[in-house]
Amino acid sequence: TPPYEDMLSVLADTRSRFPERVALTYFGTEITYRELDELANGVAHHLVDKGFGGGDRLAVYLQNVPQFAVAVLAGWKLGGIVVPLNPMYRSHELTTVLGDAQPVAVVSSERGWHDVLGEVASANGVTVALTTSELDLAAEHEGTPLCSLERDRPEETDDLLETAAARRTATPPAIRVHPDDIALLTYTSGTGGAPKGATNTHRNLSFNTQAFTRRAGSEEGSGMIALAPLFHITGLVCQFGAVLALGGRLDLVYRFEPSVVLRALRRWRPRYMIGPSTAYTALMNHPEVSADDFRSFEQVYAGGAPLPSAMVERFRAEFGLYIRNGYGLTETTATATSVPPHLEAPVDEETGTISVGVPTFNCVLRVVDDDGVDLPVRSVGEIVVEGPMVVPSYWNRPEQTEVALPEGRLHTGDVGFMDEQGWFYVVDRKKDMINASGFKIWPREVEDVLYSHPSVREAAVVGVPDSYRGETVRAYVSLVPGRTATAEELAEHCKQRLAAYKYPREVELLEELPKTATGKILRRRLRDEARG
Ligand code: ATP
Repeated sequence: TPPYEDMLSVLADTRSRFPERVALTYFGTEITYRELDELANGVAHHLVDKGFGGGDRLAVYLQNVPQFAVAVLAGWKLGGIVVPLNPMYRSHELTTVLGDAQPVAVVSSERGWHDVLGEVASANGVTVALTTSELDLAAEHEGTPLCSLERDRPEETDDLLETAAARRTATPPAIRVHPDDIALLTYTSGTGGAPKGATNTHRNLSFNTQAFTRRAGSEEGSGMIALAPLFHITGLVCQFGAVLALGGRLDLVYRFEPSVVLRALRRWRPRYMIGPSTAYTALMNHPEVSADDFRSFEQVYAGGAPLPSAMVERFRAEFGLYIRNGYGLTETTATATSVPPHLEAPVDEETGTISVGVPTFNCVLRVVDDDGVDLPVRSVGEIVVEGPMVVPSYWNRPEQTEVALPEGRLHTGDVGFMDEQGWFYVVDRKKDMINASGFKIWPREVEDVLYSHPSVREAAVVGVPDSYRGETVRAYVSLVPGRTATAEELAEHCKQRLAAYKYPREVELLEELPKTATGKILRRRLRDEARG
């Protein structure tokens, strides 16, 4: 068992061992573990004075800026529950999430507060608001000190950094947290419907951050570039949590923007990164990218979304790095499977799907049929996950907890199988299956074949109603800049490689595929649009 069962112990250990190490960089700024810890203590004391107590919710509505980390640590130092809010959310989504989470306090950018959050927060009973200026997109702000406080501060809020700096102290509030206390309320990013809050406990988080660092084989003090947003579980656990557990350095960029990421790579020369496959696609296709940009890397990871095996090979051929796949959900506090260091994930011969790896430390994965009965090797069924990384419940949703998390076992809604050696493969999401004339088609398999075409940048496959077959396969494709391919050519490419019932009867070329804020392709939106 990893030594610590709550995130405060993880932080305290790192802070005492490496106080002067750089914890975060943000373009012109470096923040050490000592500074980060003391700033968080300052904010925590301020929140105590404002009446914030154990179990209260603290919502954070920020991009990838250092203030995010300060706010999260302050919330934990009070035994509070941090609610990361997607900074792309506007009033409708914010109303849903704040109405459900009922936070006492919020931390936001000044602009976010003025534009949208302020009104929703007041309507939902928020009593404490801390705002902060964010250094936008960083490109123009090289060298700007972190604490440059823009004026024009709203009357009704306090300034986060001013408060943190004014009350900065080495002494945290005298509060203890229990491993089973909820540390995070993470609302699933919503590729599958209305957001619901997963209750990630301190045990869940501390376990998976420490497990990730072991499996990843990463070293103490090394740097990681933040490709994933901090409001998402991957960003919080595999980036922020992982560096915290190792005394490493996290290089922040405001939000994923390939040219800004390239500048950060050249400046900080990190050794690790993790992000959705779409982030790799964007970096790979940037006009100024070269193999030299990745020369400092030791390991690169993809997770949270399907990884086409053709992309893994292309990245290796062009940049000499092997992308390690990993699978997990918000409900498994990020990682449930990964590819151990020094091994490579096998590719299933029949379908061309790359394995998502093997279960992480203490994680148990099973493949079951509709009655919950275990299936033999290579049989396709629903993936069920158990272990210390699985959340105990959904916030305020006993019925959904009962259905998806009976007795602590997570029914993922993903369909997959295990091979003879124990490697797992995610075939697709159960509800995305296409049924054409009674034949089952998994969109991912068709997408993987599309990705093997050299002109395909991104692909999404959906089922659309068809009077003859019930459903038929339609593909949406965007092309690699500078390359060409016709819809007919792409359909033919699939026809030559797949059973006749699987190849897309319709191919539509799009400039760009729709994505979530975490970079996942929004297949569901395309399907809904296609179905009118
Ligand atoms: P929803 O709102 O429907 O829960 P989400 O995308 O918002 O969806 P997340 O918890 O962010 O929820 O994502 C988890 C899902 O991402 C998994 O259920 C799985 O379908 C997909 N996924 C994660 N990692 C991989 C991977 N390596 N390969 C394929 N799919 C993956």
